[in-house]
Amino acid sequence: MNHKIYTGLVLRKYPLREADDIVSFWSWEEGKVRLLARSVRKQTSKLKAILAPAAWMQLYAVPSGQMAVVTSASIIKNYPKIPSSLESTSVLFSVLEMVSKATGDDQPNEKISLLLQDSLAFLDEHDEAQKHLDFYIIFIRELMSALGFRFDLSSCSKCGKGDFSGSRPYLDRYGFSVICQPCTKYFPAVEKIDLQVWEYLNKLEIEKGFQQANTADKSTKLKTSQALSRYFQFVIEREIKSQKFLEQNLAL
Ligand SMILES: [Zn+2]
Repeated sequence: MNHKIYTGLVLRKYPLREADDIVSFWSWEEGKVRLLARSVRKQTSKLKAILAPAAWMQLYAVPSGQMAVVTSASIIKNYPKIPSSLESTSVLFSVLEMVSKATGDDQPNEKISLLLQDSLAFLDEHDEAQKHLDFYIIFIRELMSALGFRFDLSSCSKCGKGDFSGSRPYLDRYGFSVICQPCTKYFPAVEKIDLQVWEYLNKLEIEKGFQQANTADKSTKLKTSQALSRYFQFVIEREIKSQKFLEQNLAL
C-alpha cells in the first residue's frame, strides 16, 4: 500500500461518529494535514498515541477517498510536564489554535515545524506565568515571520527616519511597520504606539528563540502581547477574506 509518513504534532481533534476522530496534524513533511483516525477512542485502539496531549509523534497513513486514514501512530518524544500544568496546557492550546488558523493545508514550513518543537520543549521546562508571557510574545513574532510577514520596526517605513526621540512613533496596523509623525498624513490607519512597547519589540531578535533576554516590565509585555494578538487577528482575517474573494472569482 501507498503509505505516507507524517512527523509532528496534533493541532486539533474533531470527534466523528462513535469512536473516530478527524485529526488536524502539523507535519514536518506536508505542513497541516487532515487525517481520519478510526476507532481511536476505543480502549483497544492501536492509535492511542494520537490522544497524547503534548507529544511529537509519527503517523503512518494510507490514502482513502477524501481523507487519508491513519494506520499506525507512535510517540517520538513526550512532554509530560505540559499536561500536568493547566497553565502550560492552555498556552499550548492557544498557540496550536493560532497555527491552525494561520496555515493552509499541505504547505510544509520548516520554520513552523522547528518553532513547534521548540515550543513543546520550552513549555515542558517552564510552567511559570511570567515565562509564558515571554513565550507568547516570541511565539507570535516567530510565527508571523515564518509566514512571511516582516517585522521591521527600527525606522519609519515611509521616509526611513530612525530617530523617534522628538515624538512617539505610530504603528501602521496594515503592515505592522512604524511611521514617524510627519508621515502619518500618508496613512489613514495608524495608531500611536507605546514607546516602551516599540523599544521592546525592537529588542526581540527573530530566530533567537525563547531563551533570549526578555527584560521589559510586566505592563509593557502585556501591552506588547495585546498589540501582537491584534495584529495577528487582523492579518488572519484579511487572509481569509482574500482567499474567499479569490475562490469566488475563480468560480465565475
Ligand atoms: Zn517618516
